Amino acid sequence: MPFSHHSHSGEFCPSHAQNTLDQVIQTAVGQGMEVFCLSEHMPRSEDELYEEEILVGFESEWIQSSILRGLISDSLSRYPFEFFVGSVHHLHGIPIDWNRALYSKARDVSGGTDERAFEDYFHLHYEMLQSLKPPIVGHFDLIRLHCDDPNLSSGRLQKWPGVWQRVKRNLKYISTYGGLLELNSGALRKGLEIPYPTAEICQEFLSMDGRICLSDDNHGVAQVGAKYHEIFKYVQEQGIQNLYFLELAPAGMTGGLDPRFPRTLVKCRSMAEVKEMEFWKR
Ligand SMILES: [Zn+2]
Ligand SMILES: [Zn+2]
Repeated sequence: MPFSHHSHSGEFCPSHAQNTLDQVIQTAVGQGMEVFCLSEHMPRSEDELYEEEILVGFESEWIQSSILRGLISDSLSRYPFEFFVGSVHHLHGIPIDWNRALYSKARDVSGGTDERAFEDYFHLHYEMLQSLKPPIVGHFDLIRLHCDDPNLSSGRLQKWPGVWQRVKRNLKYISTYGGLLELNSGALRKGLEIPYPTAEICQEFLSMDGRICLSDDNHGVAQVGAKYHEIFKYVQEQGIQNLYFLELAPAGMTGGLDPRFPRTLVKCRSMAEVKEMEFWKR
C-alpha cells in the first residue's frame, strides 16, 4: 500500500510476529510504500534512516486504565516517538482477539451476549480515546472478530441502540480531536469479509468529516501490503474521496498540531492521486 500506519515484527513482538524489523521495512520499501509507520508493542528509539517516510511509534494497550495511563505518558515523555496507534485488545482484562474461547469468557463477564460485550468494549474504547487522544485509532471494531456474526451481516450495529449510541459518540470524539481512523486490512487476513471498521462505521465517520487512513497491521514480511487491493476496492465502495497519512516535518522544523509530536504532520491525497501510485503497478 502507499501508506501504512500500523506494523509489527518478530524482532520486537516474537510471540506472534515474524522477521526482523529491517526485513519488514525493506519489504515495504520494495513494494513502493510511501509512508510506513512502525508501531511495535514495546517502546524503542529512532535508529533507522531511510529515504521513504518511516515514522516510529508504538501500539498502545488498554487493559487496566489506571496503570496504562501512567505507562503510556511515561513512554511518551522518555522516547522521541512520532505517533502511536491507540488500540483496545482486552475486555475485562481478557484478550478479545486471541481466540473464540477467550472472547466468550470476556462476553460472559459482560452478561453473555454480543450486544452487551460490544457495549462494554465501546465504553472502554471511549475511556482510552479520552485518556490518550491517539493520532491513529487502531482497528476500531476489533471486538467483532470472534463474535457470533463477525461480518455483522444480519445484525447491524444500529439494531443495538446502546452499542450504536456509543459508536457514534466515540467517532464524534475522534473527529473532534482530529484523530485518523484506520482502515485495517488485518481483518481480511484473519478471514473476515470486511476490513475494520465496517461500512456502517465508515459512513457515520465520513458524515462527521472524519479523516481515514490505511494500515496493513502486518506481523512480518508476508503480510506487508497484504490485502491492499481488496482494501482499495473497499475505499472506493465507501465513497472515500481522500486518504490521510502522517508525514514528518524536516528535522529541526515543527508544524504538527499535536504538541506531543511537533514534527508529525497530517497530510492528504485524493483517491485520484492514490490510484496513480507505483504500488498498484507492481
Ligand atoms: Zn492491535
Ligand atoms: Zn497491531
